[in-house]
Amino acid sequence: MAAYDYETHDYDVVVVGAGGSGLRATLGMAEQGLKTACVTKVFPTRSHTVAAQGGIAASLSNMGPDHWQWHMYDTVKGSDWLGDTDAMEYLARHAPEAVYELEHYGVPFSRTEEGKIYQRPFGGHTTEFGEGPPVQRTCAAADRTGHAILHTLYGQSLKNNAEFYIEYFAIDLMMSEDGACTGVVCWKLDDGTIHVFNAKTVVLATGGYGRAYFSATSAHTCTGDGGGMVARAGLPLQDMEFVQFHPTGIYGAGCLITEGARGEGGYLTNSEGERFMERYAPTYKDLAPRDYVSRSMTMEIREGRGVGEHGDHIHLNLSHLPKEALQLRLPGISESARIFAGVDVTKEPIPVLPTVHYNMGGIPTNYWGEVLNPTQDEPNRIVPGLMAVGEAGCASVHGANRLGSNSLIDLVVFGRAAAIRASEAIDRAARPRTVDTAQVDKALDRFDSLRHASGNVPTAELRLEMQKTMQEDAAVFRTAKTMAEGVEKMGAVAAKLDDIKVTDRSLVWNSDLMETLELTNLMPNALATIVGAEARKESRGAHAHEDHPDRDDDAWRVHTIAHVHDTKVDLTYRPVITDPLTEQQQGGIELERIAPKARTF
Ligand SMILES: Cc1cc2nc3c(=O)[nH]c(=O)nc-3n(C[C@H](O)[C@H](O)[C@H](O)COP(=O)(O)OP(=O)(O)OC[C@H]3O[C@@H](n4cnc5c(N)ncnc54)[C@H](O)[C@@H]3O)c2cc1C
Repeated sequence: MAAYDYETHDYDVVVVGAGGSGLRATLGMAEQGLKTACVTKVFPTRSHTVAAQGGIAASLSNMGPDHWQWHMYDTVKGSDWLGDTDAMEYLARHAPEAVYELEHYGVPFSRTEEGKIYQRPFGGHTTEFGEGPPVQRTCAAADRTGHAILHTLYGQSLKNNAEFYIEYFAIDLMMSEDGACTGVVCWKLDDGTIHVFNAKTVVLATGGYGRAYFSATSAHTCTGDGGGMVARAGLPLQDMEFVQFHPTGIYGAGCLITEGARGEGGYLTNSEGERFMERYAPTYKDLAPRDYVSRSMTMEIREGRGVGEHGDHIHLNLSHLPKEALQLRLPGISESARIFAGVDVTKEPIPVLPTVHYNMGGIPTNYWGEVLNPTQDEPNRIVPGLMAVGEAGCASVHGANRLGSNSLIDLVVFGRAAAIRASEAIDRAARPRTVDTAQVDKALDRFDSLRHASGNVPTAELRLEMQKTMQEDAAVFRTAKTMAEGVEKMGAVAAKLDDIKVTDRSLVWNSDLMETLELTNLMPNALATIVGAEARKESRGAHAHEDHPDRDDDAWRVHTIAHVHDTKVDLTYRPVITDPLTEQQQGGIELERIAPKARTF
């Protein structure tokens, strides 16, 4: 047994993560009078949400007619019919009020001439149930929307007396014998002390795991820690094979150029100067959804029409746009293009390439953010005391493919929903459970063995091996052969964790140890991704299987449920929820509208 002293803290709610979803949940919990702590490994306003550029979707109708049902329809179609219908309805219906709340909290949105919130077009967002022209639904604060939201929510959380534990790294969950979550064990990075948080509810808001791949738009801190903790607690991950590649990562650097650039009139060209998206998506062209555009770009490159010396990327053109529009609406990306590609966007195109951007899969939840542990008989069984929101969770509103600007809205709608639910469910007067010392010891034993790991493989080396394997074998296009190889390679890569080498044994600011803990979290996420992908014999959304090019609703309109045990992944499946929340007669969507059909743009 590892000998570490620890300090104990008691809360109604402990939120792990201070990105958009964690802060919206924290704020909501604190507003409801729950004693709330927010634990975060980075300073709140450095969470990856700060990098979100383009905007947040809600049918406000500020720039032309819009309707929540159109937003819901686009989300259903965008998800390639893998999203849960009740959650997608909840998202689209509550989006406008969640955005107005943000406005009232103080988010400095860009404005129309009349002073309303400015909205821009984004891929896959349409009018008239996909039959009308693109809609301007994405509310923006220039191209720094995430920054504006994150700073506002942090200020509001402080105002409501939420308590922040900053630069605390959550190591593992504590689970009771009856399967409930009772708290979380953390390591304070700047002084090396250990802290045990006892909570009536733990909310995981730890973000995505983009860093399982070699080239990703996400921050280095996006290491799927929530998914890792859940997997070690014996709980499953859902739909992990669906990884979104954003069409416009800067070639070589991986930094994002927002889809808002195409929303504002930018377009893609190949080596012949052709606007090739007109061939693939005659109606929505450059504003087709991301999986579609990423695949079209990859096809152009494969067929020899890529740009550059090696013909291995594509051009994004903005130079035809008025200089003032670029300065007003896209100042951040003009700067990124200059710094990371050496390009003056008013004169030259930006070199771009599809880059890993978002994880549709994650910890399965219902639309209240309650974590699910499905069984055959009870596909929607809840894990008491545990919630997940944001990119870490899978509600599932994005299904097989997320629409641009639907993540920021997911963060605030479901962060808010989790707070509403917790305030109903938590007994404020109940005494906290006593600390489960066996669970604490288990977490600290793992921590200690990694701290003293003296194998042969340095963390950075193993991480790179994992990232390259995922990049090659779980890519934009996938074949039975590459995925089978990928499963084998990833199994071997994960097994090397037993031979990991940590050089720094200290407890204070030990980034070697922190990155090793993060690698042990990335690994189960990566394994579930490749194993789930190999098993899914169809193409749907972001999962483009070359040997099974069609979607197969009869066999595969199901969520993949993955239990990861060390290097092994067990898969089962859970039915997609096809019933909306509200019956049609009471103002819900017409069911025929959202029945599966071919997805064309
Ligand atoms: C460059 C970029 C641009 C984007 N632009 C848009 C956009 O315009 N519109 C849109 O809708 N979506 C956009 N997205 C997607 C969206 O921004 C993300 O999905 C979203 O911000 C994720 O928020 P989150 O709250 O889930 O997590 P994050 O913002 O990633 O925050 C995770 C939090 O968890 C904490 N944490 C993680 N692990 C631990 C641990 N072990 N212990 C303690 N704390 C931990 C971190 O400290 C952090 O506070 C963009 C994404 C990227 C990468």
